[in-house]
Amino acid sequence: LSFADLGLDAALLRAVADLGFTAPTPVQQAAIPAALPRDGELWSDLMVSSQTGSGKTAAYLLPLLHALLTAAPAAGASQGARRGGRWQPARPAALVLCPTRELTQQVAADAIDLLRHARRLRVAVVVGGLPYAQQLQRLQGADVVVATPGRLLDLQRGGHVQLDAVRHLVLDEADRMLDLGFAEDLAAIHALTAARRQTLMFSATFAPRVQQLAAGIMREARQLTL
Ligand code: AMP
Repeated sequence: LSFADLGLDAALLRAVADLGFTAPTPVQQAAIPAALPRDGELWSDLMVSSQTGSGKTAAYLLPLLHALLTAAPAAGASQGARRGGRWQPARPAALVLCPTRELTQQVAADAIDLLRHARRLRVAVVVGGLPYAQQLQRLQGADVVVATPGRLLDLQRGGHVQLDAVRHLVLDEADRMLDLGFAEDLAAIHALTAARRQTLMFSATFAPRVQQLAAGIMREARQLTL
């Protein structure tokens, strides 16, 4: 199986080739087709067991970016312009949640790499510890937001980002986010996203607490154990 066989957008296939990815890794071979919609079906929810180093980041970024590139112009794309001298809240179409600042920054860097031939989509990082003003500026017009849960909720509560247009939600390292005490924040964020939404959850384990989180936020999720 090659990346081209997976039916991904041409701009993404060029980026993957530039990055020297010759063939999809096992988690990519399983998750990418499962995450893409089949004819007439809705985007299905997925739970994927995955380790760091397995290629899990591209396994969710590629279908997510494909969705954004092939969708009608996103609601988020036109938002966030400076209007009447005030910043408008960002209204991203996709949101990736990560447990740590380091992982968040790595995932955003990977997304920017994969969008090198599709520069109309904008990626923003939201993490604690960066100057607030700088993050607000970068959020303007973002289509994809990669964030740690606590800081994202701070910005949402401050009126700087609206999550109601989020149609693709990813929880990366879900078990670690639970270990760090983010369960309530994840539920709160989830409740703010669009009603018709795809949720992809990646986790090293499907421990009972991960299953419990999934039961609360996903619909008939397919489980892929690799
Ligand atoms: P991850 O598990 O997402 O942290 O990815 C581990 C590393 O594998 C990263 O440096 C990726 O750039 C790289 N990678 C991801 N997918 C592929 C692939 N299909 N072929 C070669 N390298 C890859």
